[in-house]
Amino acid sequence: MTTPGELFKEGDCLLVIDVQNDFCPGGRLAIDDGDAVVPVMNRYIDAALKQNIPVYLSRDWHPAGHVSFAEAGGQWPPHCVQDTHGAKFHPDLKVPESAMVITKGVRFDKDQNSAFDETGLADKLKNDGIRRVVVGGLALDVCVLATVQDALSEGFSAVVSLSGTRPVTPEGGGAAIEKMKAAGAEVIPD
Ligand SMILES: [Zn+2]
Repeated sequence: MTTPGELFKEGDCLLVIDVQNDFCPGGRLAIDDGDAVVPVMNRYIDAALKQNIPVYLSRDWHPAGHVSFAEAGGQWPPHCVQDTHGAKFHPDLKVPESAMVITKGVRFDKDQNSAFDETGLADKLKNDGIRRVVVGGLALDVCVLATVQDALSEGFSAVVSLSGTRPVTPEGGGAAIEKMKAAGAEVIPD
């Protein structure tokens, strides 16, 4: 097993996707075992800080009545509504002071699953000399998948921590892993 500390190298950044209360048990769009990613991502965060690897955390941050909510004809129960408890990062996630927070899902007219979707993240990373993104978080088959696909199309390499992510459905998770590998991502078990 490669530990996060052995994995990181210059030109990497850590990208922690949507580790928010609503995606964890008890939340409004709870993912099975969603909170199991917290200790894993904390290990990655610790290792990143020790090696001066920049840490980015994305958050889903919807206006009330968002187009992705069932009440508005969307696919999901209401979740991660701006400034609510559900939209907060999981309380055990060790959010570093130096971490940059990427806010997405704020548009009224469409959903933004990827941390790269109109957030300026790709330009920011390129300006900072980042060449590879190390990704974990929630959910594997939705926002992690979309983020990894965008990272690869923007020309970054991508590594995905399997123990650091969980899917909405097992089938969706399996398909997401295949799609990410086919697109060129490296999927690692730990
Ligand atoms: Zn959402």
